[in-house]
Amino acid sequence: MVKAEELKSLAGEHGTPLFVVDHEALRRNYAKFRRLFPRVQAYYAVKANPEPEIVKTLYDMGASFDVASMAEFKLVHENIKGLGAKARQDFIWDKIIYANPVKDKATLEYLDRYKPLVTYDNVEEVKKTKKYAPHAGLALRVRVPNTGSMVELSSKFGAAPGEAVDLIEEAHKAGLVVEGLSFHVGSQCTNFENYVQALSIASAIMDEASSRGFAMKLLDIGGGFPARYDNGVRPLEELARVVNSTIKRLFPEDIEILAEPGRAIVASAGTLVAEVIGKAYRDGRRCYYLNDGIYGTYSGIFFDHCQYRVKAFKRGAREISAVFGPTCDALDVVSQTESLPDLAVGDLVYSENIGAYSRASATSFNGFPPAKVVHVNL
Ligand SMILES: *Cc1c(COP(=O)(O)O)cnc(C)c1O
Repeated sequence: MVKAEELKSLAGEHGTPLFVVDHEALRRNYAKFRRLFPRVQAYYAVKANPEPEIVKTLYDMGASFDVASMAEFKLVHENIKGLGAKARQDFIWDKIIYANPVKDKATLEYLDRYKPLVTYDNVEEVKKTKKYAPHAGLALRVRVPNTGSMVELSSKFGAAPGEAVDLIEEAHKAGLVVEGLSFHVGSQCTNFENYVQALSIASAIMDEASSRGFAMKLLDIGGGFPARYDNGVRPLEELARVVNSTIKRLFPEDIEILAEPGRAIVASAGTLVAEVIGKAYRDGRRCYYLNDGIYGTYSGIFFDHCQYRVKAFKRGAREISAVFGPTCDALDVVSQTESLPDLAVGDLVYSENIGAYSRASATSFNGFPPAKVVHVNL
């Protein structure tokens, strides 16, 4: 965690709103993930925070990448190119998975030259892939329970387990190779049972596929690894015990296991510093207006269903206050119930654990540009 004094001095130097990325925290989070899941290669989900510096730091740590758009693919590929003269063609599956089950024609045509590993979950995608990216390898995305996850994904993606083997067969008939299975238990998954169920479903599909002549070699257990926004979230160590023992029980040693953690790598590496630009009293309650809000770094409140705490550097008796963003939209509410001391216009506040799905989904709505980004401990 970047210390309060440093946050204040960075804000003094760069202005606010300021989005501070701590690369020491990134390295720590990545190393912890590898230590807790020794059998699993981590493909960082770039959409959580696509800063090129983050990609570089994680690449140097040995990370691979989950990309889900042509721009994200290029971003990662550029950085791999810039970082050594490896034979990239053999190397690419080890470093990049294109994990968006639905791709447009242009993306498939572009990707094909790299013989990428891509996910799919429906028969239209098989047809498109055969036509526009015949050199791609496939991983079938399977629908699994997302019960209790903060962000639910199972209503949008994933083949029903009952149709999985038929979809694998469809791909083979089209001359494509299905290398393995993937799933996503939902983001910020605090119900660890989701992983157990997903692994059981995947194991059953692999067995059935194998008995029909389609042996697979990889399993992608997706993202969902929770960040500790508060102490109610059980530690990653506990999830690791559950996941590792279930993998050991259900999958042979020669099945390659990958995961796509996003939030678990970047959430705690990001801190926002914002400034109080206005103050009012409404119905006896203090209301603060910040120069960042729900259309900016706090966009995760809306898109990610995540609530961030707003903290003051200043001490003093606290009162429940409202915190608003700078735009003219009434939706632009950061918090209705923040416990804050008596702040003045010009005072700084900060929010921790805001590294994932925050600035990544910020807009320039109403003419307020996204926060400036500064990298520390690079
Ligand atoms: C968003 C996403 C991830 C990252 O999920 P987290 O919950 O942030 O770990 C991984 N895989 C896929 C396919 C995704 O869409």
